[in-house]
Amino acid sequence: MTIDYPAVGIARVPIPVPLPVETTNCYVLDSGDGLVIIDAGMDTPEARDAWDSAIPQLHLRETPVRGIFVTHFHPDHLGLAAWLSDRLEAPVRMIQGETETARQYLRPWTDGDWDQFRSFYTMHGLSHEQTRAWWDQEQLFRHGLTMPAHVDPIHAGRTECLGGLRMVFLEQGGHTEHQGLVWLPERRILFTGDQVLARITPNVSVWPQSGANPLKEYLQSLHRLKALNAGLALPAHEAQIDHLDARIDVLFEHHRQRNERVLQLLTPGGQTGLELTRQLFVRPLHDFQLRFALGETLAHVEYLRHLGAIRVSDDVPRRLWLSEGGSRETLGHV
Ligand SMILES: [Zn+2]
Repeated sequence: MTIDYPAVGIARVPIPVPLPVETTNCYVLDSGDGLVIIDAGMDTPEARDAWDSAIPQLHLRETPVRGIFVTHFHPDHLGLAAWLSDRLEAPVRMIQGETETARQYLRPWTDGDWDQFRSFYTMHGLSHEQTRAWWDQEQLFRHGLTMPAHVDPIHAGRTECLGGLRMVFLEQGGHTEHQGLVWLPERRILFTGDQVLARITPNVSVWPQSGANPLKEYLQSLHRLKALNAGLALPAHEAQIDHLDARIDVLFEHHRQRNERVLQLLTPGGQTGLELTRQLFVRPLHDFQLRFALGETLAHVEYLRHLGAIRVSDDVPRRLWLSEGGSRETLGHV
């Protein structure tokens, strides 16, 4: 593991994850009056070993760690927070809304949760067997994730000063409902979490328990992030982003093209969400990828439905049609 320094006083610690992105970039910020850590990584033996080697290199035991800020509740960010918090005797902090999402996700699930899960996927054309397999997979994810005993919630938009560091905690929807980003206004540095990545298009999906129109939330967030005029963006995976504006423009274009493609694919007889997903993602998808592809397709469908370009039927599975009044010119813009 090689720790590097993308800017003065900011160490990037690549914590290995068993995902295609290979590492979660965790950051250690030196405020001059203690340290702040951003994201903890996934709880695997390799990731614990990586922190055990980073802790002495960065003197994390000799310098007080004021907080471990977790951007969002996904296992590759929150997974090791409880462990690291014990190790360093430092509080875990998250945006308040994201803390509530994590608690909801990690509470014991009931028959009502299964009913909601099953009816969501049945509505979009999935078989009972497939839905059951995804449910079992979800339980595995949940059981691999530990909620820290105490999380210090941060109000969205809060500014905090520590030593010579002024940090603004921004809440941004789309990837999760309340992802937290850290903005250093004097230094024009933005820690983007998974909201903007250098190469991958961050996942924006409709899930059984998610908000109604995550793509709209996401595109609105990108407009706000672009307006910051950041000089350097430090994401939670992959390389740093030196030109955030240009990267955001690529993401806008990606979603605009995908909206257009969805409208082109809809036939007079209508399709289910699953059928549309298989037409939109032409490459073979394994089970896990299909669930994400369906979620992303539905995010576009909901976005277009809210704009009036798509209608849906009431039957099960639900069918999707192009609406007669839906204008293609206005699509892809918020
Ligand atoms: Zn991630």
